[in-house]
Amino acid sequence: MDFGIKNKWGLVCAGSKGLGRACAESLAEEGVNVVIVARGAEALAETAAHIGENTEVEVRTVAADITTPEGRKEALGACPQLDILVNNAGGPPAGNFRDFEIADWEKALHANMLTPIELIKSVLDGMIERKFGRIVNITSAAVKAPIPILGLSNGARAGLTGFIAGLSRQTPMHNVTINNILPGAFATETMNGRMAAMAKQSNQTIEDVAESRLNAIPAGRFGEPKEFGQLCAYICSAQASYITGHNFLIDGGVYNGTL
Ligand code: NAP
Repeated sequence: MDFGIKNKWGLVCAGSKGLGRACAESLAEEGVNVVIVARGAEALAETAAHIGENTEVEVRTVAADITTPEGRKEALGACPQLDILVNNAGGPPAGNFRDFEIADWEKALHANMLTPIELIKSVLDGMIERKFGRIVNITSAAVKAPIPILGLSNGARAGLTGFIAGLSRQTPMHNVTINNILPGAFATETMNGRMAAMAKQSNQTIEDVAESRLNAIPAGRFGEPKEFGQLCAYICSAQASYITGHNFLIDGGVYNGTL
């Protein structure tokens, strides 16, 4: 199927590794020129080279912290025109909420709620004017089923989700859609780090932690970033113009609900 987005421009935040990278790769495979942002220049260059070798699209990189106003300005400045925005950033740390200070909450809110809202504010009216826009926010399965030790993530991402629920109904008449994708457990650096922390905390091996996580996943495996990226590319397709305001859970069947 041709997704109808060839030659569009997409900005993929936090796109040098993991889920963000997979979104950039899948969009590029559909002919979307991509601007990829992350802080570390080395992984960015490697990702850009990989995309360049495998597709015909133009790839630009911005080494910046997307959670800062300067980083966002630099990222937006690298896009000649913005048709697709994938919002993403690192997730906040786990912990007991009694230990979180206001500064911890501010950091989580900046990264996982206010940064996507600021970026949307910068790009939305241009998309509306050009009658095409696809905005995808990478959030977490924790929005649907909160994870007790991830209070900062549960809270900040729920705030973004509530805001998007309202905004996403104000744009589809202009062929601009806004949706969220909620990852369950995907095999990425972040997830490996979380499992290592859990292993240390509970005096288990990483293998034991991984096994108990796998036992709770009906699919019997961790998600592959590529399957996440491909869902993102479909939501950004021309065909998906009637889909807005949704929360796409991609978790191998973990969430046990009828709806
Ligand atoms: P990952 O593989 O560790 O990749 C994180 C990416 O984000 C890297 O490219 C990193 O590059 C970039 N990044 C982090 N902070 C940034 C910042 N401030 N500015 C710009 N780039 C930044 O992580 P992932 O697993 O793909 O996770 C992506 C998001 O999904 C996170 O918010 C995570 O909490 C959430 N999530 C993941 C899972 C999972 O199972 N993987 C499940 C639920 C939710 P630099 O470090 O070089 O900046």
